[in-house]
Amino acid sequence: MLRAAIIGYGGMGKWHHEALRTQVPEIEVTGAYDVRPEANEEALANGLKAYGTAQEVFGDDEIDLVIIATPNDSHKDYILSGLRSGKHVVCEKPVVLSSADLQEIMAEAERSPGLFTIHQNRRWDKDFRIVKAILDEDAIGKPYFIESRVNGSSVFLHGWRDYKINGGGMLYDWGVHLIDQALQLIPERVTSVTAHLFNVHSKEVDDNVKLLLSFAGGTSMLLEVATNCFIPAPRWHVSGRDGTAVIYNWQCEGKIVQLADKNALKWESDIVYTAAGPTRTMAPRPVNTTVEKPLPHILDARGREYHRWSSADIYYHNLLEAIRGEAELLVKPEEALRVLQVIELAFESAEKGSGIACLI
Ligand code: NAD
Repeated sequence: MLRAAIIGYGGMGKWHHEALRTQVPEIEVTGAYDVRPEANEEALANGLKAYGTAQEVFGDDEIDLVIIATPNDSHKDYILSGLRSGKHVVCEKPVVLSSADLQEIMAEAERSPGLFTIHQNRRWDKDFRIVKAILDEDAIGKPYFIESRVNGSSVFLHGWRDYKINGGGMLYDWGVHLIDQALQLIPERVTSVTAHLFNVHSKEVDDNVKLLLSFAGGTSMLLEVATNCFIPAPRWHVSGRDGTAVIYNWQCEGKIVQLADKNALKWESDIVYTAAGPTRTMAPRPVNTTVEKPLPHILDARGREYHRWSSADIYYHNLLEAIRGEAELLVKPEEALRVLQVIELAFESAEKGSGIACLI
């Protein structure tokens, strides 16, 4: 049995508590620390010890694992304190705000007996796993352009997410998830980063993001985070040499459309006349030259339908195995480092107004 304490008992802190309580009997959350007295009262009401300071958590010999779920700017010091006190540390994403800070932490983790990992839970989102299955099964041929979008219309950013000092903004928020997914999907070096960052409503931080990544093998990905989009585009649109896949929404509705015959690339089309003239290239393809297929049906690591807690189950059981030395961590700090390197170039690209060549 591992004993855990949570630092930051807000939205995500409580999520970790509930996830562990319901999915991972091998880890018992026994305490929490938060700067807000109301959050500490909630922790007490939920049967936890409420620590008076973070240092009390790090000094508590009963605690094996510290879970950090505070605003982004406070992660670094907590991670370092956790590692220096010999505990295992799970930190929320974005792990820290710069690659230099993460490298400092990685050096500390090398010296520490504790394991250190980052909560990149969206690697176990069902929509992402379906796209990964499509590529792994070569269902639409070599992908050349992948669009990954989260299009919301909340308009305003909540709480600390709206402030630069807290590491707010959507690139550090949803951007981190989409970049992490992209790097998992295309296991190649990133060769260029082009970003457009918008402050549509926020005074200080990016609230809408468009990011174009090129990979060494020729695939490009468009990542988009919108908080001001009232007509959402599909969550995923994947263009492969032999077909197209689309996932419209979180419910994973979508389809694959492939060429009926991969070798029959040419077909006779009618010319379509629009108000301004004719086009043959953009004429609709006859339906009998394509085949429509359902998206692959995928199951979670336990062979069950993906459910609300699938990621927590997979993530924390992997952590337990890694602590016992039976598995590698599924989320490695060096992977988070690549994500931060892409983010740094995205900020630079947006500021310069041009794409940045790289090898990440
Ligand atoms: P939140 O505002 O709901 O909760 C943050 C909590 O931390 C609050 O209770 C606040 O009082 C407390 N806090 C603030 N500063 C503190 C400090 N210095 N020490 C201790 N407690 C402090 O925010 P949230 O949505 O839970 O986000 C927390 C972290 O989780 C962020 O890093 C965010 O990016 C991440 N997050 C991850 C996911 C995911 O799916 N992985 C989802 C949401 C948020």
